[in-house]
Formats: sequence, C-alpha cells, structure tokens
Amino acid sequence: MADTQGPPALPILTEISKLDVQIALLSAQKKKLIGDVAARKQVVDGHAAKSAVRAKVLVDKQTLCAKEEKSVKHERDRINERRAALNTLNNYKLQQAAEREIDYVAKQIGQREDLLLGLMREIEVIQKEVADADAVIRGLSDELTAFEKEASETIQGIDAQLQTLQAERTSQAAGLAGQRCLVDYNRIKDRFPSNPIVEVLNRDSCAGCFMKLGPQVIVQVSRGDVVKCPGCSRILRLAAE
Ligand SMILES: [Zn+2]
Repeated sequence: MADTQGPPALPILTEISKLDVQIALLSAQKKKLIGDVAARKQVVDGHAAKSAVRAKVLVDKQTLCAKEEKSVKHERDRINERRAALNTLNNYKLQQAAEREIDYVAKQIGQREDLLLGLMREIEVIQKEVADADAVIRGLSDELTAFEKEASETIQGIDAQLQTLQAERTSQAAGLAGQRCLVDYNRIKDRFPSNPIVEVLNRDSCAGCFMKLGPQVIVQVSRGDVVKCPGCSRILRLAAE
C-alpha cells in the first residue's frame, strides 16, 4: 500500500480530506437551500390552487345570481303588468281568479327573491374568503421572492467557494495522480464524507469505529504509511499534537 515514489501520500490525502469535508458541508448547505426554496414554492402553489378553486366557485355563483336576478326581475315586471291590467277585466269572477293566480305567482317570486338574497350573502362570504386568501398568497409570494433572492445569493457564494475548493483539490490530487491510495481514498470518502481520515485514539484505537488497532498498524501509521483501519476502512493518521 505504501507508495515508493513521489511525495509522502498521507499529508496530501489529509489535505484533500480537509477540502472534501468542506466541499461536502457546502454542498449539503446548497442542497438544503434549494430544497427549502422548493418547499416554500410548493406551499404558495398549494394556496394558489385552493384559492383558484374558490374563485371559480365564486364566478359560477355570480353568473347564476346575475341570471336569476334578471329572471326574477322579469317575472316581477310581468306580474306588475298583469296586476295593472286587472281593472280592465269587467267580470268579477274572472277578476278574482286572475287575482288569486297573480298572488300565487307573486308568492313564488318572493320565494325566489329570498333564495336570491341567500345566494348574494353567500357570494359576499366567498368574495371575502377569496380576498383574504389572495392577501395571504401575496404575503407568502413576497416572502418567497425575498427568500429566493437571499438563497440565490448564498448559493452563488457557495458555488464560488466550491469552485475554489475544487480547484485546490484538483491541484492536490495531481500530486497523487494514478496512485492506488487516491483511488482507495475516493472510495472511502464516498462512504464517510464527513471523516474519511481519522486519528488514532490513545495510540491504540480508531477514532472512527473505536476498534483496537494492532501494534503493526500503529507502527505503519507512525511511519507515515497510508493504512486503512481493519474495522471501518477509514485511513488512519496520528493525532495532531
Ligand atoms: Zn475504524
């Protein structure tokens, strides 16, 4: 496992691992921000969808109300005309019958007018509901816009940092190009992104999985060899002074 040529591998891997941990943290931060923006968008969209359904109900009821209002007014006008024409009937019995019919129809119109009033009150309630919901949506949208702006600025900053870190990593990794230990390290880093390289605790155990390490392993680590923990496969290094 020890590399025979070039600069000692372990210090370079340690530098790479520090960069990788920062890269992983920043990437997680970026991912969380993107997720937060999407979640907030979903909330606003949910409110908007609900409000749109209510707004459609409102329009339908308003259309129905206008139609009914017109129809009732027409009926009311006709009944008034008939009432005015009653005097022209010279037969008392006919007059009585016509009056009864007019009263009956007028009562029906009255009932329709009551229903119409009820519908108008309902429309007022829904109108207020829709207006309130729209105000909430406007508030949420404004918050979302502000949050999105802030998030996108933060993400820009993160991307710039990531670019610098990646460039640094690429140049560090160039020092170990083609070496087995870099391939191993990359595999370990995918499994343990937050600590691919761990210290030896109390000169006898792995700080990652706490497995006791044999004296041979300690000797190798002390020599600066790239040694993997037999328990968790993380790369081991001596504790910093
Ligand atoms: Zn271990």
